[in-house]
Amino acid sequence: MIIDAHCHIWEQQVIRGGMRDLMDSVAAELHVRDPKNLSNGSVERLIRDMDEAGIDKTVILPLDFEFRFGGDGFTFRDFNDLAGSYAAQHPDRIIPFAGVDPRRGKAAVDELRRCVEEKGFRGLKLWTVMGFMPNDESYYPLYEEAARLGVTVLVHTGLGPGETYLETCRPLYVDKPAVDFREINFIMAHVGVPWVDEALAVALKNPNVYVDVSAWQRAACILPLAFAQMLSTAKVLHGGVHKVLFGSDWPLFTEILGQRAWVETIRGLEHPAALQFAGLPELTAEDKTAILGGNAARLFGF
Ligand SMILES: [Zn+2]
Repeated sequence: MIIDAHCHIWEQQVIRGGMRDLMDSVAAELHVRDPKNLSNGSVERLIRDMDEAGIDKTVILPLDFEFRFGGDGFTFRDFNDLAGSYAAQHPDRIIPFAGVDPRRGKAAVDELRRCVEEKGFRGLKLWTVMGFMPNDESYYPLYEEAARLGVTVLVHTGLGPGETYLETCRPLYVDKPAVDFREINFIMAHVGVPWVDEALAVALKNPNVYVDVSAWQRAACILPLAFAQMLSTAKVLHGGVHKVLFGSDWPLFTEILGQRAWVETIRGLEHPAALQFAGLPELTAEDKTAILGGNAARLFGF
């Protein structure tokens, strides 16, 4: 089973208000040739790309950009409802998470409960690039609700769009909630790049913390040694690759690598001579199968 633990829905109706400027910033940062590749993120295209790549299930992550940047009439509830409607159309393929900004306080808690209890959502997405610290104890009621509902919390860690704050996106800030809420499984997006060592350390010391490799497509293409080294380091540090989840951040990187090519890149990973020389372990076929879906299947109870 192949599970993509990190995707988005980007359609014109979503790219509204402050999100439009953010997407322009993302397009510039990623050197995207055709910005339409970023905004053509419909569920139809997603299912098509999943079928072509042999991806069985995909986590989709609505983002609460409205709280900080304004939604021009498109609210965070609208975004969550849209994800819910796609999951309802494809219940065996789409795993929806709720996007809420914890600074909403009780409204954030209520929205998470609504999405999980009424719509069957499986997780919470915290988009820290909006400028909040995930370790702030004033957000603990939201974590308490996530724990009570038994859902996974995916936290953005690492680089984000230019017009947002990097400061709040360090993997280290996931450590405190992970210690204080052992019953919640946390996923740190993007292995916290550029704070990869920090992300792997947080995952090492906390049995309930995982990482996803979304947004590593460019690195896998232009710095294949760095990508192989990150996975090999995770294996040696964690005593296996059981903490590493496949993810793509679809559709942002499809211009660099499509879903099928991204799956094949991981399946076809070789053990570079430089890593052999450094004594880093090779990824076996079983390791790759675990990364591509076995680990996420265990995490989500499939
Ligand atoms: Zn993402």
